[in-house]
Amino acid sequence: EVKRDPKIQVARLKLPILGEEQRIMELINENEFLILAGETGSGKTTQIPQFLYEAGYAEGKMIAVTEPRRVATVAMAARVGHELGLTSKEVSYLMRFEGNVTKDTKIKFMTDGVLLKEIQSDFLLSKYSVVIIDEAHERSVYTDILLGLLSRIVPLRRKRGTPLRLIIMSATLRVEDFTENVRLFRNPPPVVQIDSRQFPVTIHFNKNTYPNYLKEAYRKSVKIHTRLPEGGILIFVTGQQEVNYLVRKLKASFPYRKDLDYSKLINRNKSVGEVDAALDSEPDDIESDDDEVEKEMKRARKARRKAKQKTKTLPKINLDDYDMPEDDGQADLVGNDVDSDGHMSDSDNEDYLTPEIKACRQPLWVLPLYSMLSSAKQARVFSPPPVGARLCIVSTDVAETSLTIPAIKYVVDTGKKKMRVYDHVTGASAWRVVWTSQASAGQRAGRAGRVGAGHAYRLYSTAVFQHDCPEHHPPDLCRRPVDDLVLTMKCMGIDKVVNFPFPTAPDRMQLRLAEKRLETLGILEKAEARNKKDQEEMLKVTPLGKAVSAFPLLPRYGKMLALSHQQNLLPYTIALVAALTVQEVMSGKPDSWPATGNTLLLGDPGVLLRAVGAAEYAHSMGEEELFCAKYGLREKAIKEIRKLRKQLTSEVNLSVAGVDASIDPEMKPPDDNQARLLRQLVLSGLGDQVGKKIGLDEVKQGEDKRKYKYAYHCGELEEPVHLHSESILRKVIPEWLVYQQMYETGGEGKKKMVISNVTA
Ligand code: ADP
Ligand code: MG
Repeated sequence: EVKRDPKIQVARLKLPILGEEQRIMELINENEFLILAGETGSGKTTQIPQFLYEAGYAEGKMIAVTEPRRVATVAMAARVGHELGLTSKEVSYLMRFEGNVTKDTKIKFMTDGVLLKEIQSDFLLSKYSVVIIDEAHERSVYTDILLGLLSRIVPLRRKRGTPLRLIIMSATLRVEDFTENVRLFRNPPPVVQIDSRQFPVTIHFNKNTYPNYLKEAYRKSVKIHTRLPEGGILIFVTGQQEVNYLVRKLKASFPYRKDLDYSKLINRNKSVGEVDAALDSEPDDIESDDDEVEKEMKRARKARRKAKQKTKTLPKINLDDYDMPEDDGQADLVGNDVDSDGHMSDSDNEDYLTPEIKACRQPLWVLPLYSMLSSAKQARVFSPPPVGARLCIVSTDVAETSLTIPAIKYVVDTGKKKMRVYDHVTGASAWRVVWTSQASAGQRAGRAGRVGAGHAYRLYSTAVFQHDCPEHHPPDLCRRPVDDLVLTMKCMGIDKVVNFPFPTAPDRMQLRLAEKRLETLGILEKAEARNKKDQEEMLKVTPLGKAVSAFPLLPRYGKMLALSHQQNLLPYTIALVAALTVQEVMSGKPDSWPATGNTLLLGDPGVLLRAVGAAEYAHSMGEEELFCAKYGLREKAIKEIRKLRKQLTSEVNLSVAGVDASIDPEMKPPDDNQARLLRQLVLSGLGDQVGKKIGLDEVKQGEDKRKYKYAYHCGELEEPVHLHSESILRKVIPEWLVYQQMYETGGEGKKKMVISNVTA
């Protein structure tokens, strides 16, 4: 029996989903699969687990809820426990490195990766009576794989006589990938749509799009706070650093002091004098998280006092009838503290404290929100701000659909998010700031309409929205290089990747080719079919493959790294892989990099390695620019390579304990033995990309033999492939070679295939 706090019961009853409890529970009882689609804030995450609990689904077995984000895992477990009047012993959470699950746990929130791990040791998920896949619209790789696996586990559980229910929850109505995919669900599962109250949200686009979206976000928030009626502000930026930066800036601009009674501020014009006097006194209690903020606030206070001598009266604004002025793009409130790359630094002056800011007496209650925030700090976003202060939350996209923050009236949307972007040559990935999808923009704007009519300020133009924001981003699983996906899934013990019931399947041909490639590279190997029905060949991960999968690279490059544990080769291999990833490093002629020492042994990668090593040294001497110009290196490419080397080095340090691979600007060129071994490493990774010289005796009569001077047979290609015109191996023209890249050049009628970065 559940004993809920009466206050909680009142809040619950306001959620439209409560009225649907009976219908939803009937559908769950009668169906093994159910899709539940409802607006963010409609009560899916907090209420469905409670319905199931009250219906007895936690008796004997557990209720599982998966979340793609850590922040939601913790927050929702706490909330559901609180609403049910249960402790964290019964409503618990589990994620990598952290959790509070006990033997008494009834409802278990976990990250999707954790449930996937559990499937590897207990394929039937026998501990659970029901699995809820939350936030399925996010289409995280793990969620997609979980859905595929569960579509098979559920029927197996039925056969065993211990049925398992699967509930897929989505914040959008776009669920065709789940319902219209007969490989996933032969019979489409029923879809329940939960209506929710949503008030109108007016969308405002900027006339211009400025590269410095942080500065814009600050500017817009200041305008909202100083000129617009009461109501919480929610600002979307891309990451933790940006969140902290804006929080600091906004707190310093509109500080909150615990020793002041701001309640009188609600009626601003009456009490200015009083608060003025108070602001002049030294504060004894300041709401702050760290010294940094303290310092900022002292600066702000000093500026405030100075400014007060000039501005004694508040600007008169009719708060009920106020139109945001069109963006003029002139006011530049933040100054130069954010450079054009979006890097952040705090300026030492107070230029950004304009008279308007200084005149504003109302504090802004600014809170950060991002995935790695401690649970205690996360919880603060759900509490109302102190009396007289305006709530302002600076968040990453976790506030888009994962967490519903109450009382937001204004949304400030930078239109940006961080996305993992893969280099399709090496598979190295990096987090890049990209435009959000139009769908995300819609979700973000929607956050302003939960409590009343709201406003969403998009800090970019309609042109950007139409041309640069895709309707949706493709699911993560389809953006990942297939070789990497195949290896990852095989490592999870999923043998039949090609036939896997993906919600959105990557190209099957590509998957097959990837399997073949990985087999050639010794990362997968044939295994005995388990039974006669399994006629299809099974490929399993080799021990080498397991080691390779630890590296954040395409398996072929991971293999090079995995094999470079000897003779101090790792730093060279990292530099080499980084250099091979970046396009067009050398703009000059190969002659500017003469084949001295053992460079020729490694071919083009050897030249690259030498160039990178020398450029790094020049950089350490502060002469990079000169050096690049002199030797025909593209400076931007060299900088990119350095970034990648650093990233790979730190990731390798993480995945291979005990290896210290820091970047050494004094790294000597490899000695002859190392160069020979590096050549073997290059071969080990590119061994499926082999070329054999076309003999001149093979050239058909009447054809110009000169055209075949640098021509090779490559793989199953019939046409000749030519050595890149700047390849150092044109001096040697080896009989056999491996190449990193093959591509087509030349226009109509002049097309030819070219290979580059070759090693004899
Ligand atoms: P959905 O999953 O459909 O997006 P939720 O179940 O997360 O919706 O939220 C339902 C309601 O519960 C929202 O109004 C939200 O603000 C509220 N809520 C969620 N978590 C908390 C919390 N920790 N404290 C107070 N209210 C909360
Ligand atoms: Mg939810």
